[in-house]
Amino acid sequence: MTDPERWSAFPGEAPVPEADALQFNIRLGCQQAAARTVPADRAAWEARRPILKAELQAALGLDPWPERTPLKARTTGIATRGYYRVENVVFESRPRFVVTANLFLPLGQTGPFPAVVVVPGHAMVEGKNMEKYLTAQLGLVRQGFAVLAYDPIGQGERKRPGFEHPLGYGSFLVGRTNEGYIVWDTIRAIDYLCSRSEIDPSRIGLTGNSGGGENTFYTMPLDSRIKAAASCCFTCSYEAWLREGGNHCACNHMPGLARSMEQFEIVGLNAPRPYLAGNAAEDTILPIPRGARHLDQDQDHLRLLRCRRHGPRSRGTRRAWLVATPARSRLRLVRQMAPGPWRR
Ligand SMILES: [Zn+2]
Repeated sequence: MTDPERWSAFPGEAPVPEADALQFNIRLGCQQAAARTVPADRAAWEARRPILKAELQAALGLDPWPERTPLKARTTGIATRGYYRVENVVFESRPRFVVTANLFLPLGQTGPFPAVVVVPGHAMVEGKNMEKYLTAQLGLVRQGFAVLAYDPIGQGERKRPGFEHPLGYGSFLVGRTNEGYIVWDTIRAIDYLCSRSEIDPSRIGLTGNSGGGENTFYTMPLDSRIKAAASCCFTCSYEAWLREGGNHCACNHMPGLARSMEQFEIVGLNAPRPYLAGNAAEDTILPIPRGARHLDQDQDHLRLLRCRRHGPRSRGTRRAWLVATPARSRLRLVRQMAPGPWRR
């Protein structure tokens, strides 16, 4: 017997069954998900809605809201490329916390323009300039939108000392989260857009994929200036997320959030503003069957529009869109309770 074996509880072959260390989280997550129910009626939803919103804000570490400090925005470069003009922009979402962005304005058209904030996923090196995200940005510009694309913390041009993406681990100790910082950056990006005379502040949208889909998912319920949003490769359920392992970057975790809400409730906060969830058919992290199962029990009203490719990285070759229509069961209930028409 060698020395290390003398100090082992199971010298040789360990006679223990195969374990899944995540089983405890999964079991608890399922219990918590089972406790989440659709409000019984409009009065129940109206009572729940402000509580839900406040709990979400707190879970993100954004209660109280950070101070809206001066953006100190400046344009560092301008270029004209065919049908658009691009401005390289920096602004401070918090004091000395610089956000790097590009503002695209359509040429040959008169403003003020509707604008879309396009947020990337975990493209850690390229950030906002990852080729396929850039394609999405320019596709919107071609349709007459102004586009603001920015680098999340620790990505692209913000991949530098003091801007480390996993600042979230330290944030937990002080009651904040990585995603909370990201959401605030997006809110301040909208502040910047609203400061520009070329932009119509009444027509602002938000979209992103993967981590950008998450950014979209958590920002829209908390900022009523966002009139429409499309969140790709994110919307699912906390229960399904736990079943898949729930093992991703720190920005995916808000302590205790699933104890008080499920994702379908957060989507409900957006009503009557349209929210589109685009999911990938073979996404191994957030697959569409799970999103469909948890967000809509009524397959007759689930609209799946197949498309071959979607998103900057392949999580499967077959792609599909899960479209949040007003007829979808859970959302339909919310729509009935919310004033105004649902528009797509
Ligand atoms: Zn992250």
